Amino acid sequence: MRAMRLEKPGAPLVLAHMAKGAPGPGEILIQVRACGVCRTDLHILDGELAASKLPIVPGHEIIGIVAELGAGVERCKIGDRVGVPWLGITCGDCGPCRAGRENLCENARFTGYTIDGGYADYAIADQRFCFPIPDRYGDAEAAPLLCAGLIGYRALRMAGVGERLGLYGFGAAAHIAVQVACHQGRRVFAFTRTGDQAGQDFARRLGAVWAGSSERLPPEELDAAIIFAPAGALVPAALKAIAPAGTVVCAGIHMSDIPSFPYALLWRERVLRSVANLTRADAEEFLELAPRVPVKTEVEIFPLAAANEALARLRQGKLRGAAVLTTG
Ligand SMILES: [Zn+2]
Ligand SMILES: [Zn+2]
Repeated sequence: MRAMRLEKPGAPLVLAHMAKGAPGPGEILIQVRACGVCRTDLHILDGELAASKLPIVPGHEIIGIVAELGAGVERCKIGDRVGVPWLGITCGDCGPCRAGRENLCENARFTGYTIDGGYADYAIADQRFCFPIPDRYGDAEAAPLLCAGLIGYRALRMAGVGERLGLYGFGAAAHIAVQVACHQGRRVFAFTRTGDQAGQDFARRLGAVWAGSSERLPPEELDAAIIFAPAGALVPAALKAIAPAGTVVCAGIHMSDIPSFPYALLWRERVLRSVANLTRADAEEFLELAPRVPVKTEVEIFPLAAANEALARLRQGKLRGAAVLTTG
């Protein structure tokens, strides 16, 4: 099978021909149809997330067909369509797992980071961390739901129930979160890089009531804000934009350093928090909700072998919505 593999952080992915492997007990072999390209993949490529397995096949928004079952698999059968998210496996036994916070499992392994992921013709996954995909979505359209959608949904929940919501960085995650937020009756204020007129138009088209530069204040105070862009300078900017008791959620796995800011920005019970990974309950809830909104994803499709090009376009901020690799 083909795989686009990271051999050395800082270098482009390399097309490799590998054995597809056999699923172990409780695992399934999936014929990958589509795999989303996520900003986290860039952080892995750039070495901003320490490499714990090299070479590694990135990709944690996998949509594929079950091709082979390991021993004891009973949650799916050959021919089923499944999705595989970032959370690849948890131990079920550590403090966080026992407390119902498997997203913080101390022994977790992650798809496309510590387990080979979906930038390939085949991938192996633990059956307990795979999910059926709603029929209304095509393979490529469904892929961004698995991370951009899920993490955005978890971040939205952590932002509280306030009506006026700011989204900083209008990429794959925000383009889904805005639709869910509007469905929940919120008003969304979208912030992009200065001068990104196309991004601001895109946000308005998807339901944002206002869109502008992240260097500006919104026309009214916000109840909450989610920061999807990996830029620490957005933290004080978002705190400035929210009302007392409002929450700022940092939704990315990596962020540049946060500049120091006066305590007055946090004072009056404003909350600053991060969101890490996801739980299986998040995935089940979100995949049930998405077709009811209905969330529509906008994707730019690239063949598997063009993964480096898709990543470059993500890095340059040139994508509308999400990039997806297909095995075709
Ligand atoms: Zn655990
Ligand atoms: Zn991701």
